[in-house]
Amino acid sequence: MQRTLYGDDHEAYRSSVREFLDRHARAHVEQFIEDRAIPREIWIEAGKQDLLGLKVPEEFGGVGAGDYRFNAVLGEELSAVSAAFASCFGIHYDVCAPYLVELTTQEQKQRWLPGFCSGEIVTAIGMTEPSGGSDLAALTSTAVRDGDDWILNGAKTFITNGYSADLVIVAARTSPEKRAKGITLFAVEAGMQGFERGRKLDKVGQSESDTAELFFTDVRLPTEQVIGDVDRGFIHMMERLPQERLGSAISNLSHAAAILTETIQYAKERKAFGQQIGSFQHNKFLLADLVTRIEVTQAYVDQGVLAHNAGTLSAVDAAKAKWWSAQVQNDVLDHCVQLYGGYGYMNEYRVARAWRDARVTKIWAGSNEIMKELIGRDLGL
Ligand SMILES: Cc1cc2nc3c(=O)[nH]c(=O)nc-3n(C[C@H](O)[C@H](O)[C@H](O)COP(=O)(O)OP(=O)(O)OC[C@H]3O[C@@H](n4cnc5c(N)ncnc54)[C@H](O)[C@@H]3O)c2cc1C
Repeated sequence: MQRTLYGDDHEAYRSSVREFLDRHARAHVEQFIEDRAIPREIWIEAGKQDLLGLKVPEEFGGVGAGDYRFNAVLGEELSAVSAAFASCFGIHYDVCAPYLVELTTQEQKQRWLPGFCSGEIVTAIGMTEPSGGSDLAALTSTAVRDGDDWILNGAKTFITNGYSADLVIVAARTSPEKRAKGITLFAVEAGMQGFERGRKLDKVGQSESDTAELFFTDVRLPTEQVIGDVDRGFIHMMERLPQERLGSAISNLSHAAAILTETIQYAKERKAFGQQIGSFQHNKFLLADLVTRIEVTQAYVDQGVLAHNAGTLSAVDAAKAKWWSAQVQNDVLDHCVQLYGGYGYMNEYRVARAWRDARVTKIWAGSNEIMKELIGRDLGL
């Protein structure tokens, strides 16, 4: 179905993103996987191409695009090349940006945003802890007042960009007796005494993204490191999670659609019993089914983008887009692997890697179960 979400400006932007990816990423993905890292030079190049500061006002080095469709274009193009690329960059320009633009003081903006846009300050967000991620209100890292400063103690895990980030937005408990209403966000910066990183975690997929454990031992944080309001951190996160989930949905679908297109081509070329494997009715119907699932889901997600632009995207609709797209992505990619036969199980084939890369989307940014919990609650259940 013809999508109507984008206009000429968005398509022109898409061309420039593709050009960037052609020049700096597409041909190097294998190397990134081997190195288990996206090199900092790519971030700097992305900064030069104005890809990182979409949300950031021009006075701080950004683009000041008030239109989320540009984020959507970027997410689509990155995930079509590499899911890990989309997640590392996405955490920065799509997830962390709203915190650093909307909740910060003028002084903080001046301190962080120019580097954020140029790729010199890579960011991460630490919500999840070793003891749990789904029940965010139960987090146990603490920040205790000491004069004008705060003393942070605790640990975070599974943090995207955690190994290389220069600035991590960390959620910590500041009022133990208040649960959700006692959490504050802090900017913890590389080099601060007591801030240490554990190993780069060995994941099932997305090997080129860096995912790490973070440890905080008596990290002294001046009050200028507080992001937003003291004790309102949980609300700050809840207000921004719908965008994170919509961004996930956009990437999930684009990632699956790119591999499905390649699989359809493969099904036209690969022969068995003297005919194209795609021409067997089973496979033809299967591919018809998968294309339909992608396109119908796309229509829902596109509507979510428009709603977000209009300021009307609800947390529940974002949850629906997030879990459903993750499920569709995983189902589609599993079938794609099957259609490739033995080659589908070989790491050198993109389809195999995509299948492994996709598995996490049903877990992170709120698992499918948590998304259904939100939707169920909205049904009054
Ligand atoms: C590669 C990767 C990158 C990540 N990046 C980040 C990041 O950048 N920042 C960050 O903060 N976190 C990040 N995460 C963490 C991610 O958001 C959490 O893993 C996720 O929220 C689930 O938390 P958990 O792993 O502690 O699982 P748990 O909360 O222990 O849940 C375990 C299982 O129980 C289920 N469950 C829990 N509660 C309920 C319930 N009420 N009803 C039904 N089922 C339930 C869950 O759905 C899950 O299946 C990342 C994770 C991965 C794997």
